[in-house]
Amino acid sequence: MTAEVIVDIAHSDVDKIFEYRAIEGVREGCRVKVPFGNRTVAGYVMRLKEGSDFDAARLKDIAAVVDRALTPECIALVHRISERYHCSKALTLRLFLPAEMRKGTVRERTKTFVVLRDGDVAVPARARAQAAALAFLRERGRCGLSELSEMFGRGAVGALVQKGAAALEEEKVLRTPYAGLQGTAPARELTPAQKEAIARIGASDKRVQLLHGVTGSGKTEIYLSLIAAALEAGKSALFLVPEISLTPQMFSQLRARFGAGVAILHSGLSAGERFDEWWRLRTGEAKIAVGARSAVFAPVENVGVIVIDEEHDGSYCSEQTPRYSAREIACLRAEYNDCKLILGSATPSVETYRKASEGEYGLIALPERINRRPLPEIVMADMRREVRRGNNSPFSAALREELDACLASGNQAILFLNRRGYAQSVVCRDCGAVVKCAQCDVSLTYHSEENCLKCHYCGAAYKMLSACPSCGGVHLGYTGTGTQKVVGELRKLYPQARVLRMDVDTTSGKEGHYKILKEFGEHRADILVGTQMIAKGHDFPAVTLVGILDADMSLHFSDYRSGERTFQLVTQVAGRSGRAEEKGKVVLQTYDPENYILRFAADYDYLGFYRHEIALRASTAFPPFSVIVRVMVTAEEEQKALSALKAVWTALSEVYSKNASAFLFFNKMHAPVKRIQNRHRFQVLMRITDEGLLPAIYESALRYGSRDVLVYVEENPANLS
Ligand code: ADP
Ligand code: ZN
Repeated sequence: MTAEVIVDIAHSDVDKIFEYRAIEGVREGCRVKVPFGNRTVAGYVMRLKEGSDFDAARLKDIAAVVDRALTPECIALVHRISERYHCSKALTLRLFLPAEMRKGTVRERTKTFVVLRDGDVAVPARARAQAAALAFLRERGRCGLSELSEMFGRGAVGALVQKGAAALEEEKVLRTPYAGLQGTAPARELTPAQKEAIARIGASDKRVQLLHGVTGSGKTEIYLSLIAAALEAGKSALFLVPEISLTPQMFSQLRARFGAGVAILHSGLSAGERFDEWWRLRTGEAKIAVGARSAVFAPVENVGVIVIDEEHDGSYCSEQTPRYSAREIACLRAEYNDCKLILGSATPSVETYRKASEGEYGLIALPERINRRPLPEIVMADMRREVRRGNNSPFSAALREELDACLASGNQAILFLNRRGYAQSVVCRDCGAVVKCAQCDVSLTYHSEENCLKCHYCGAAYKMLSACPSCGGVHLGYTGTGTQKVVGELRKLYPQARVLRMDVDTTSGKEGHYKILKEFGEHRADILVGTQMIAKGHDFPAVTLVGILDADMSLHFSDYRSGERTFQLVTQVAGRSGRAEEKGKVVLQTYDPENYILRFAADYDYLGFYRHEIALRASTAFPPFSVIVRVMVTAEEEQKALSALKAVWTALSEVYSKNASAFLFFNKMHAPVKRIQNRHRFQVLMRITDEGLLPAIYESALRYGSRDVLVYVEENPANLS
């Protein structure tokens, strides 16, 4: 037999299939060692066949078989994914395997046990320790070597083994993440709305289903029921959640419900844990894979349902080559397995909602919370007025009042700060106006090193302003307040209150998020101050107040999606309030209380928001009515980057000149951040109306990547820095 092998070398020159003579034990999906040039490299057997396309006599033998890591589905998808993202097959394959496994840095962990063999072996009466150890083993049957030695001494245990009374055995032990988590999640009686949603999903002939349910509408219970149904049908399930911080809570629920059938995959686990969890899925011992983006590649077979919770979340798009979207991969997997893909969200992405409203996806709405609990009331606090009144603290009078009441009644509060990225736009604190680009209708970004304002879409630069262009006011501001400052202010105002802070600085370590959330969840703190991390998913019953300190911050990011993001954030954060019996409240602080996005958010009017937003996108021809494509060229030597940029530009210009009418924008420029980690960055920015041009763009651009020059293509990038 001949084996078609992909060698694990990422270089695009070796991105083809090599043939080797199969040795005993080689099967499709095997990881193998093969001779390559004058060394031995890892490879993957994609196919076995009779005969060879080459001179069979000259084929080399596969050197060794490692294991059978790849599923048939993986083999089938590798080709499609590498074509879709124009990425080498070897790099694509790496998505399917934990890195530690590929590099061979982690193996199964084993433990030595002492096992009773012949209980009747005589032990001299003097040897008390031996006798005691033997008695212990008679009772237990077996015990870990180190534990037994600790109790009775190494010598005694050794003597028992020597006499044949006991034997040593190596056993595999699993490293289990969150082993300490013990949730209780009995299967609940579903509400009529939940039952109907499940029935409609089952009856629909559409592969992808959008579950649009307000926060607290019981989407999780629907996911769990669908997963349970898949298991009952003898199938497996994939469950994606957006961020690490979400996983423990969700995971403990899944554990409580499905026991060891759940495996968790995310980058926050230790290498050993990930390795063991991955193999539990590969062997079918665990049938439910839960995790963040990369879990979409989990080696489960015969998938019965795929769920993507918070489908709008930006973390589902990879920012490394291949720049895949987990939603797209999930779609491919749903197709392969002929199963449903459930996209759940209270605030679906504009792109997804459009597909649902046009009938491409099924659409199921859950407009009410469980038990008709009201959504928390959102009140706006006009921060311009606060400034006029001389209040320069991060808290409006309205928020102070609500905080007083919340703490007095022994409830919990969450204060949210919307700081993201390095970029800051300029807001007039007198009139609320935001400084925008003359040509693009997106807000400008302040660049401190040059003290100027720039448009991230067209590259235009403007002199820094000393007064507001609309009202002439001189109180121009850049940032909101940092989390640390807020915590300091709270300590002054409420010395008795226990305050927790959650942001990138306080959540280092494997279970950093988990610890803070656990502490807050157990009501060992009164106020949680945090960034995006605390926005979604968490279910804290005692939280009755949410304060959004700077609702405007994301509104004015230089991104066509900033309105959408703001709507999503406000809705998600507000949804943390009043989830149990007591009614919740939300105070939304803004310098721009007339803003339509905030108005729709405060009214929980997703449809109103969507209609407004989609009309805007249509009239400006922004996605989903076009695709923004960015080709990045980076290199440590500026000259090398520039000459590659020139070559890329020439090649792309050819595509452009043949299809000029499909280009709304086409230009080359410095990337907004000119240098990151010592690499000079340039870009070709395009906005096209014909997706069919993507392959040509990829091909034209990627040809000019080399060892020194990194060239990559981004579609509708979340971050244009
Ligand atoms: P969502 O994911 O839509 O935000 P959740 O699934 O977190 O909503 O559910 C909101 C609350 O309602 C949770 O506290 C959950 O335990 C509860 N809940 C969900 N389904 C039921 C049910 N069928 N019966 C009783 N309570 C439920
Ligand atoms: Zn511009």
